[in-house]
Amino acid sequence: MTTTRIPGRRLLHSPGPTPVPDEVLHAMSVQPMDLGDARVDANIAACEDGLRRLFRTRESDIFMYAANGHGVWEAVIENLLAPGDSVLVPATGHFSESWAQQAEGLGRRVVRTPWREGWPIDPAAVEAALREDQGHAVKAVFAVHADTATGITNDLAAIRRAIDAAGHPALLVADVVSTLAAAPFAMDDLRVDVAVGASQKGLMCPAGVGFMAVNAAAFAAAQRNPAPRFYWDWVRRRHDQSYRKFCGTPPQNLLLGLEAALGLVFSEGVEAVWQRHARLARAVQAAVDGWRAGGAVDFFAREPAARSTSVTTITVAPGIDVEQLRRVARERFQVGLAGGLGPLAGRAFRIGHLGDCNEAVILGAIAGVEAALVALGVPVGEGGTRRAVMSLADG
Ligand code: PLP
Repeated sequence: MTTTRIPGRRLLHSPGPTPVPDEVLHAMSVQPMDLGDARVDANIAACEDGLRRLFRTRESDIFMYAANGHGVWEAVIENLLAPGDSVLVPATGHFSESWAQQAEGLGRRVVRTPWREGWPIDPAAVEAALREDQGHAVKAVFAVHADTATGITNDLAAIRRAIDAAGHPALLVADVVSTLAAAPFAMDDLRVDVAVGASQKGLMCPAGVGFMAVNAAAFAAAQRNPAPRFYWDWVRRRHDQSYRKFCGTPPQNLLLGLEAALGLVFSEGVEAVWQRHARLARAVQAAVDGWRAGGAVDFFAREPAARSTSVTTITVAPGIDVEQLRRVARERFQVGLAGGLGPLAGRAFRIGHLGDCNEAVILGAIAGVEAALVALGVPVGEGGTRRAVMSLADG
């Protein structure tokens, strides 16, 4: 790969992977250790304790995998559902649909609630789907907390209430891949049975470690599940030996990075991290509010309260080439953005404001996006960046 040096920094505003703090890079930059070295076990124990604390669960097992988010999705499917079992996947957009297709690809049946474009999951639809399932074929509800493609956050507490109101025994599995360490989440209080995350978003690490918290009810369901499985198996991985925990060699350097990242989150304070994400998201939303006056771009999320604190999805009018916009933002103004996914491909771009982010980089990203829009002649009105400044100045 030939590279030309870029003066200054290119800002990374995809909602994953996200920028990696120097402290995490330094923590990873050590020689591997032999598996009997006490530091290996200490690092794994620190990651497990930190993740339990971050998920806000007292007793759940933590399982970590050398895998990305799709890997931990697969682990949930393989452990909780036997072939032929059903799962309810409330539609949230690209990521719920991908998880649903993965379950179908593995021979499980999927019940979907209808996708409400621009809106969060309707808890009433979840309740209705579960009421219809009189024989309790549905073993779990897979709920994506915030769909990173749509930039919409779903109300997990309302989904929990819907399951309870239907009197259904399905387990609640939450994908907090894009919300962990970015938006309020408390697994035990929400009575979530399994929560899944990955290293490359709010946890500010490179991709490569997927993890989950599994409560006693979910672990018991996995023990009862006769489906053959090996690499993903929770029962096999609940073990003292690090080699057995990882079903092979642990990804040591990534785990050292994860421990360092958890340390950064706890030293800032989990609530403070959530508040910082909310503050920066408000600044991005203020800018989009200014830009949309030009009539060419708009929020995908219709309901302001449901707009994600991790990523903002911005739709564009027909004729605007999203890939060209991303190219100009990246090559001329040094801001890396994400495109639209699934049904939003070509119709939207996304600004990530997740992980190791602060006021300065957010203002840089917003101004860079505005510059790219203006350079391409997209009518954005005046004052998007100014609104972001005012939003941050107001706190
Ligand atoms: N779930 C959500 C909410 C995501 O945003 C993503 C990726 O962006 C995934 C799952 C899949 O994760 P990965 O790309 O690491 O496989």
